[in-house]
Amino acid sequence: MSNFSSKEKFVESFKLAVSEQYGRDFEDTYPVERYVVLGEMIRDYAGIHWKETKNAIKKSHTKQLYYFSMEFLMGRLLTSNLMNLGLYDVVKDGLEECGLSINELEEMESDAGLGNGGLGRLAACFLDSLASLDLAGNGNCIRYRYGLFKQKIENFRQVELPDCWLKNGNVWEIWKPQHAVQVKFGGKIDAYMDYNGKFHMEYAPDFVVRAVPYDEPIVGYHTKTTNTLRLWDAEVDEDSVQSGNLSKYLNDVLALTTNVYPDDSTTDGKKLRLKQEYFFVCAGINQIIESHLRVYPSLDNLPEKVAIQLNDTHPVLVIPELMRVLMDDYNYDWDPAWDIVRRTVAYTNHTVMAEALEKWPQDMMRELLPRVYMIIEEIDRRFRYEIEHQGKGYLASQVGILKDNQVHMAHLAIVGSHSVNGVAKIHTQILIDDVMSAFAGLYPGRFNNKTNGVTHRRWLLYSNPQLARLIEDTIGDGFIKDPEQLTRLMVHVDDPRLQERFMQVKRERKEILAKYVKDTLNIDIDIDSIFDCQAKRLHAYKRQLLNIFHIMHLYLRMKKDPNFRIYPRTFFFSAKAAPSYALAKEIIKLINMVADKVNNDPEISRFMKVVFIPNYSVSVAEILLNAADVSEQISTAGKEASGTGNMKYMMNGALTLGTLDGANVEIVEQVGYDNAEIFGLHVEDINELRKENSYNVWNLYNNNANIREVIESLKNNTWSNDPNEFQQIYNDLMLRNDEFFVLADFEAYIYAQSLVQQMYEDRSRWARMMLVNIAKSGYFSSDRTIREYANEIWGLTPIPFD
Ligand SMILES: *Cc1c(COP(=O)(O)O)cnc(C)c1O
Repeated sequence: MSNFSSKEKFVESFKLAVSEQYGRDFEDTYPVERYVVLGEMIRDYAGIHWKETKNAIKKSHTKQLYYFSMEFLMGRLLTSNLMNLGLYDVVKDGLEECGLSINELEEMESDAGLGNGGLGRLAACFLDSLASLDLAGNGNCIRYRYGLFKQKIENFRQVELPDCWLKNGNVWEIWKPQHAVQVKFGGKIDAYMDYNGKFHMEYAPDFVVRAVPYDEPIVGYHTKTTNTLRLWDAEVDEDSVQSGNLSKYLNDVLALTTNVYPDDSTTDGKKLRLKQEYFFVCAGINQIIESHLRVYPSLDNLPEKVAIQLNDTHPVLVIPELMRVLMDDYNYDWDPAWDIVRRTVAYTNHTVMAEALEKWPQDMMRELLPRVYMIIEEIDRRFRYEIEHQGKGYLASQVGILKDNQVHMAHLAIVGSHSVNGVAKIHTQILIDDVMSAFAGLYPGRFNNKTNGVTHRRWLLYSNPQLARLIEDTIGDGFIKDPEQLTRLMVHVDDPRLQERFMQVKRERKEILAKYVKDTLNIDIDIDSIFDCQAKRLHAYKRQLLNIFHIMHLYLRMKKDPNFRIYPRTFFFSAKAAPSYALAKEIIKLINMVADKVNNDPEISRFMKVVFIPNYSVSVAEILLNAADVSEQISTAGKEASGTGNMKYMMNGALTLGTLDGANVEIVEQVGYDNAEIFGLHVEDINELRKENSYNVWNLYNNNANIREVIESLKNNTWSNDPNEFQQIYNDLMLRNDEFFVLADFEAYIYAQSLVQQMYEDRSRWARMMLVNIAKSGYFSSDRTIREYANEIWGLTPIPFD
């Protein structure tokens, strides 16, 4: 009988475990001690199914996926694990009996922020869906000692603080020192030929660390399947310290796993990042090979039993590393090794922005990873030979892996894998037609689309229980296992009683958010105002600037014209900027200075408030997105690969105010143009403007008073006493001709916003629209995405339990 078989049993085991572990009466223990013991009890309970899952995979020879990602933005796991295990109510009631509130224990958990944003959160959603669909899918990443920085706002500016997420330990992980792997860097290579003419390598590295795994169970929803997220830590390799070098060695080991790289768009400060990439790739590959050989006699059947997915180019070294292991450690010749690698590995592209496509200086790669670099050279040589032979040698300067003294990681990824996917229809199309068109010509069958998704369990069921209950009351609970069943709501969207009940749920969520804002920022907000939200990384292409310019415009206009008033609105922003991204930081400062001005103007603040919620993270997202009426998805068309925030809002009923970019395109496809507000230039328009070189901000400035006023206000002491406060923003728009077409879309955006207000004023129409959005959101569950990957790329079948 388990510790959770009844409330009474739980209370008894829990109290005993707490007092045994800490050697005190239960009543004398600290709250955090109780949290730790509860977490460990849940983890141990999951351990039973964890074992059964591993055994079932071994016995049935089920194919497994390894999802290699530099980032997993897991957030908190207590609620999700309890819910997925079906233990939530027993634990909640039991804790109550002990005089504890489950919510307080939930808040004690650190938010595991091992990632920057969308890409890392996608990886986390995928793990939840894999387990819930009974697929054997494991995560592979680094156990960063500090998560992405914590953001504070001081004096209107972003300040970065360390995120000490491990300060109370991590209840979900199990340390597995017996599975340690050596990872080698730098040094010298000697090649020699043996009696049979075969090449051999002798490698003398100059830096060796032990990669030690920490495993976390990933629990599926109401199923036995329990997968593994493996996080690698770097430890000292006692026998590998060069004499006289101890303290440098210790520092180098520590540095490897100190930080999440805080920049999701460029790769500066390079060397350590490259070391991190190789570190978790090498460790992960070695573990895969070892566990494969524990079950199968050779590596010949690796592609039939293992699929490896590369989440962006950060883990692309998987390709040469797997080649290295096959050839150097297991004696494969090039061609059979290459065949195994290509059939095992698949690559997901996440960006088309040139500056974000990863490249490494050849010298740096050669020095740090001499053997891996040799293999990359050979891959490049053979690839060039291949295209030469197809009579397409003219493409070499475009598609080469090694060129301009750099290693082009996306090119290596495409050449070395059997599948390349984009993350939304429009993004995949841009890859095929534009950014990677030469490759698409060479390998037409290799490119495919997998539109992103989010786990509807975390983002709807668990973070918005009020809405989940209403949906269950209306259409039953079948949508939990099968989110497409949300469409059953469609027959009810005109029901005035459902509409009213829905508006009540939305109001409850708005109250919860308003209370958080009051408690943390001491700002009072109007629950009955329109909640208009933009929460995502701060980036020029995401155009937070367009949003704040609209707010500045409304303020200036209301000040000038006492007859112009808007329907009350609260504008929420939440966004971290990469610490070295000066323009993004200046935009944060602008938002906060505008907020200060607006909120403290008694005449205006009755109609609008601006709230910047610090430290955007999964936990903040969980209370912010489901309170939204309007979801701001306003990136420059062609720049946002997919977006996943847009899907979380939609699932909770918000109206998408967006450009035709990323998955917004598919959101409108689902709900129709009546149930989303789409504005702005299309990709084709923007390509045209670029091609003809015909965009000129000064024309707009001279001919449009709204634009002129807003731009002038940056420099005329409206928001700051220092006229140079927003110099970078001004220069970027007016002297560098507004790369992201903020001003080009400004009028269209103001108009779209006025339409949003009109729609909101018709309460029944608004409620209907929100219900339609929820009803059509099933497509954006990551369960659908994972099924597509499993069937079309990985060839996975469910784990059979007997
Ligand atoms: C969903 C999510 C993102 C991605 O948001 P986009 O709007 O798609 O950029 C980033 N950060 C967190 C914490 C998230 O939950």
